[in-house]
Amino acid sequence: MPRRLVVGNWKMNGSRASNASLLETLSASEASLGEGCGMVVCVPFPYLQQTSDLLAGRRIGWGAQDVSAHRQGAFTGEVSAAMLREFGCSYVIVGHSERRQYHGESSDLVGQKAAVVLEHGMTPIVCVGETLAEREADRTEEVVSGQLDSVLQRLGADIGRAVVAYEPVWAIGTGRTATPEQAQAVHAILRQQLRQAEANAGSVSILYGGSVKADNAASLFACADIDGGLVGGASLNAQEFSAICAA
Ligand code: PEP
Repeated sequence: MPRRLVVGNWKMNGSRASNASLLETLSASEASLGEGCGMVVCVPFPYLQQTSDLLAGRRIGWGAQDVSAHRQGAFTGEVSAAMLREFGCSYVIVGHSERRQYHGESSDLVGQKAAVVLEHGMTPIVCVGETLAEREADRTEEVVSGQLDSVLQRLGADIGRAVVAYEPVWAIGTGRTATPEQAQAVHAILRQQLRQAEANAGSVSILYGGSVKADNAASLFACADIDGGLVGGASLNAQEFSAICAA
């Protein structure tokens, strides 16, 4: 059975003071996490050490928002999977739409990143999602399945150790959430694709992301193939994020 998981993506937000207060409040709420449910925060690189220190001994997982596909060497500004592992990261987001859109990341590169994350004993959170123009052109299935297929080609049976996040680009940071029916329909397609590709992939957690808030989380998470959420803006507010995790 897929694990229930809520992942906060802080994006390029935070300060040492605000992180400390956010993580302290989240730590106080971890007791309300249900059995088998996970809470994770993915923070900017400079805050990995602070996050590691403040979450030591806690049930809250943590990780990064991107990684280099290269192992080491002359790649100025990049951060390797080995470095993230050395810090103690457990999760790494790969293929977020902001990386695809602003940094030209291809689905093939996303597959390479997912592979290097797994090679270093961490869990890649692989994001897929269509733009509004693609949805309106009835291309949602073709786009998300194509993005997932690139990662499946690269990972093979190792996909069983990854997490997938469906994030419609038109719902990210816009306040416009997919309805539970819209999200469930795409999750069911992704679930079937995973099952058909690899025998062990039926239990991969598939998260929904795109303007998840405390007041819409329960109806999204009640859908058969939605195993939790990838949360941007609302993960910066401890009460809101805790309420989403409780849902
Ligand atoms: C995200 O950054 O992955 C995201 C889903 O953002 P938001 O929740 O703000 O839409």
